[in-house]
Amino acid sequence: MKVAIVTGASKGIGKACALRLARDGYTTVINYSSSDEAALQTLDQIKAEGGDGMVYKANVSVLAEVKAMVRDVFKAYGRIDVLVNNAGIVRDEYLLMMNPDTVDKCFNLNVKGYLYCAQAVALKMFKQKSGVIVNMSSVSSKFALPGQTVYSATKGAVNSMTQTLAKELGGYGIRVNAVAPGFISTEMIEAIPEETRKGYVERVPLKRFGTADEVANLVSAIVSDQFAYVTGQVFVMDGGLSL
Ligand code: NAP
Repeated sequence: MKVAIVTGASKGIGKACALRLARDGYTTVINYSSSDEAALQTLDQIKAEGGDGMVYKANVSVLAEVKAMVRDVFKAYGRIDVLVNNAGIVRDEYLLMMNPDTVDKCFNLNVKGYLYCAQAVALKMFKQKSGVIVNMSSVSSKFALPGQTVYSATKGAVNSMTQTLAKELGGYGIRVNAVAPGFISTEMIEAIPEETRKGYVERVPLKRFGTADEVANLVSAIVSDQFAYVTGQVFVMDGGLSL
């Protein structure tokens, strides 16, 4: 049995990753922070397709909650093979109007949360001498979108930690990579006003937004043995937006 934890898996990209990894045969932990019903629906769908797993409510920006989650998952299954660090928030604000609370919220989840989860699982993976961590970054880390100073800074940090962790953990058989999606149709994107969204589609060479399933396909490939010699990389999946 192989075990995967996907943070922020009640919706969007995280949900698609959880469903895909379950189809790939992983016992899948669906982490979330507030959407109980959506998380249970994800688990129901996994079970309906013959898979297995559990839901786990934990705010991954709180270290104690991350430690408890990883401890409980390890107690239940005895191993952790994959972590998809996915739970993240976007708060678009121009620097001149930036609220300090936005800075704290984005860094606490998108950066500290990723580090807390990576450390907690790596402490288990290094004893197994194997494991894969995939960090959900964003094309905003590579492509400047006005209003995303804070968000892009958090995702730039995700890219940097991916490279450093890959070097630190490679000797223990742990691979660390990142995926940097462009515009992907999820609630996060649906929150953007329609006119602005239309403008964004025009800027994408493939003339459409991506789907959460397409991101999940890439995550599935990265964690597989086909990518066994790949670590420290940031894979951009953006329909050509950043070109
Ligand atoms: P989403 O639809 O808003 O879903 C966010 C997920 O994260 C939900 O399951 C939510 O669960 C969970 N979550 C939020 N705060 C949490 C916390 N403190 N602890 C644990 N879980 C938490 O987001 P998405 O669009 O799928 O984005 C997922 C990731 O992809 C993010 O890191 C985002 O930056 C990145 N990304 C997205 C896009 C895009 O176009 N959508 C593009 C590039 C990168 P609850 O509702 O239960 O809290």
